[in-house]
Amino acid sequence: MPEDQVEVVVGKAVYRGRKGSTVAELGISPPDEAVAFSLNGHTYDFQQGIRENGRLSWLTFQEEAGRLVFRHSGAHLLAQAVKRLWPEAQLGTGPATEEGFYYDIRLPKPLGESDLQAIEAEMQRIAAEDLPIERVELGRTEALQLFAQRQEPFKVDIIQRIPEGVPISAYRQGEFIDLCAGPHVPRTGRLKAVKLTGVSGAYWRGDEANPMLTRIYGTAYPDAEGLTQYLYRVEEAKRRDHRRLGPALGLYLFREEAPGFTFWLPKGQRLYRTLEEFSRRLQEPRGYQEVATPWIYRVGLWQQSGHWDHYRENMFVIEREDEKLGVKPMNCPGHCLLYQSAVRSYRDLPLRLAEYGPLSRFERSGTLHGLMRVRGLHQDDAHLFVREDQIAEEMRGVLELVDLVYRTFGMPYEVVLSTRPDDYLGSLEIWERAEGALQAVLEAQDKPYQIHPKDGAFYGPKLDFYAVDALGRRWQCATAQLDFQLPLQFDLTYIDRDGQPKRPVMIHRAIFGSIERFLGILVEHYGGDFPLWLAPVQVRVVPITDAQGAYAEAVAGDLRRAGLRVEVDARNQKLAYKVREAEVDKIPVLLVVGRRDVEQGTVSVRIRPDGDIGARPWPAYLAELAERARMPVG
Ligand SMILES: [Zn+2]
Ligand SMILES: [Zn+2]
Repeated sequence: MPEDQVEVVVGKAVYRGRKGSTVAELGISPPDEAVAFSLNGHTYDFQQGIRENGRLSWLTFQEEAGRLVFRHSGAHLLAQAVKRLWPEAQLGTGPATEEGFYYDIRLPKPLGESDLQAIEAEMQRIAAEDLPIERVELGRTEALQLFAQRQEPFKVDIIQRIPEGVPISAYRQGEFIDLCAGPHVPRTGRLKAVKLTGVSGAYWRGDEANPMLTRIYGTAYPDAEGLTQYLYRVEEAKRRDHRRLGPALGLYLFREEAPGFTFWLPKGQRLYRTLEEFSRRLQEPRGYQEVATPWIYRVGLWQQSGHWDHYRENMFVIEREDEKLGVKPMNCPGHCLLYQSAVRSYRDLPLRLAEYGPLSRFERSGTLHGLMRVRGLHQDDAHLFVREDQIAEEMRGVLELVDLVYRTFGMPYEVVLSTRPDDYLGSLEIWERAEGALQAVLEAQDKPYQIHPKDGAFYGPKLDFYAVDALGRRWQCATAQLDFQLPLQFDLTYIDRDGQPKRPVMIHRAIFGSIERFLGILVEHYGGDFPLWLAPVQVRVVPITDAQGAYAEAVAGDLRRAGLRVEVDARNQKLAYKVREAEVDKIPVLLVVGRRDVEQGTVSVRIRPDGDIGARPWPAYLAELAERARMPVG
């Protein structure tokens, strides 16, 4: 093929033309829903010239890359609307984000609620005008002149920083033009549903020495329905925010005096213990042995494990008696010392050591976030010491456990295999063997998975599990990391069948991950409405008057003996008030007892979310309740 030609494959068709042709010039017509296309991993719009051969695939709003193009066009729509309202406004930059876009703009005045409404209305008008969005290629001098003339000093600043030889482009829609590399959707009419979501301040180039700009946030959807669903999810996420909901439900609280640490209130501690108990009941029958190891070690241990070189910034270090001590951020080195404490034979493996002890990790104060990002945490941590021939079987066991746990909480999950980072420890050959083993297990499980190249820990490749909550948000929780390195650092061995010492492999794994964080996720996933087996208070017994007080206590006693978590609301309040309060407290089962219940030996049952299900005989109904409240382990 001649040098000045390109060849593009779309589906089964092959198109050829002059290098630098657009899709239209090559005779390709995009499907209606396409906003851009992907070629050799790059995203292009319909106006950009094609200069490389390859297979073209269309990008719609359904693909992340397509969404970014769409949202970035939303940012241009915002900028155009602002310029129509305040022609003296000066534009900074306006990128797309995961959920929408923002634009940093220097404005003549602070924005009020009515200004945002005016901007939004103008954006809708521009979308309705259905202006074509045109790409303009500019020479450097031409670009500098254009944006100087338009009194856009920030754009001039950007152009001055573009290296010599890099092409400069702008996108025009109607009277508006913005310096931009693209890509963009073809017309403003594609942005059918737009919404501004917030305002904050941001220094130009993030530098305090520069002017403060107004950052306006927004989002855009191809239809009203998508936007409505998004706004619902945002509202719901606010309503469920665990930082508000947890304290409101009396589960936990945070204090300025201990940043990054949690105060567990009695109900929260019960929830925490229930989760921990659930983990124990799953792991013990599967051969895990629980241990407890020290939480402060001499620095020499951290040097030996490699944490001192690779994780020191995240450790709390103490100096005493002219000696440095490190508070543990992970249990692994302690478990290695335990492994070393006895001669191990091939028959002793796999050895599965579990620990729920306290861990401390230094996180900068600005990054702390409720239970999601803390300095004091606990994990459902375990280290499996295995022979190389046992890796596949043990990893299968971990995958089974992950599946069981996330299914119990009604959370689908995604699996990601992260491979060798640039700053890896150990030999390339060992790494390749480890990655091969993980991949083989995943292939055998026939589970779809993604690969994140170079995202592994410094000591081995890993599997990360992303749980999807009730609002569709992804949370990285479970992890399983292969480690050929730590056994080397600690010179761990076992005596093999042939009498020779061999090196075991270590698997670090956690199913919840940080228990604090997992609880925060659960609070938001359930919106505080925990399933009966997990709820900190499972049953509340409510006598209608003092006359039923003794009967209520007897019912509560039966429940406690059956292992249920129960309280009695004997306050001298109206029944309606107590029922409403139980709603607010999200108590799963309410047993109301009145005069008739005492006479007939019944309880009147209200269950969330079904409501009033009428009177049930007592204590016959106890067995049914106990069964429903049973921890789902099997
Ligand atoms: Zn742009
Ligand atoms: Zn570990």
